Parts: sequence; C-alpha cells; structure tokens
Amino acid sequence: MASDPDCIFCKIVAGDIPATKVYEDAHAVAFADTNPQAPTHVLVVPREHYTDVADLARDPDAAAGLLAGIRGFAAQEGLTDFRTVFNTGAGVGQSVFHTHAHLLAGRPMGWPPG
Ligand code: AMP
Repeated sequence: MASDPDCIFCKIVAGDIPATKVYEDAHAVAFADTNPQAPTHVLVVPREHYTDVADLARDPDAAAGLLAGIRGFAAQEGLTDFRTVFNTGAGVGQSVFHTHAHLLAGRPMGWPPG
C-alpha cells in the first residue's frame, strides 16, 4: 500500500501518531480536524497516499473508495446536510499534501463561501 513516511496523515492512518478517529473502512479513515470550523469538522482521507484530489482522481477505484467513506461517515452520524471541501494547492490553502475531504456540518453555511 502506497505510503509516504514523511506524511502526517499517513502516520495517522497507520496509528503512529494520535488522532480522534471517528470512522474507518477498507479504503478511508475519518478523524477530527484539530482546528474545527463547524460543530462537525472531520477530515476523510484515503488510506493510501495521494497528494490531492486531482492526484487521487487518477485512480478511479481509490477515488470511489474515498467518496464511499464520506457517505459512510455521514450515514453513521445520520447527517443529511453537510459540506465537503477539497483544497487543492497551496494557493487556496492546502497545507497537508495527502488528499483529504473536509466534511463540515452542524451550523448554517453561506454560499458562495467567503
Ligand atoms: P488543508 O488546509 O485543506 O490542507 O487542511 C489541513 C487540515 O488539517 C487543517 O484544517 C488542519 O487543522 C488539519 N490538521 C493538521 N494536522 C492535523 C492533525 N494532526 N490532526 C487533525 N487535523 C490536523
């Protein structure tokens, strides 16, 4: 399984550094964001290392696995209204280069985002 020894999210997936994991399946792991922007704010990540969502999309099975993980977490929590955000590139604020969906819920959210 592809992993980057220098990647903090790979280390969280492997259990080598602590995180508040809230969901796991064969392809994806979700854990609480340490700087939450909503009452529910988790990061859903593929178990394997891809740098961003464009990189992940090169592997359709892995991309489908991550989407299934998003659905799985939402179903587990009974969430019907939630937002997912993939920051792609430092220019829009991506700071961790292991694909992750921010899943946010539990407060009103305007559109377009600020
Ligand atoms: P992004 O800016 O889209 O790359 O998002 C990275 C997110 O990871 C930020 O919202 C951080 O708060 C979050 N984060 C960074 N390190 C950790 C960690 N060790 N555990 C949980 N969340 C983290």
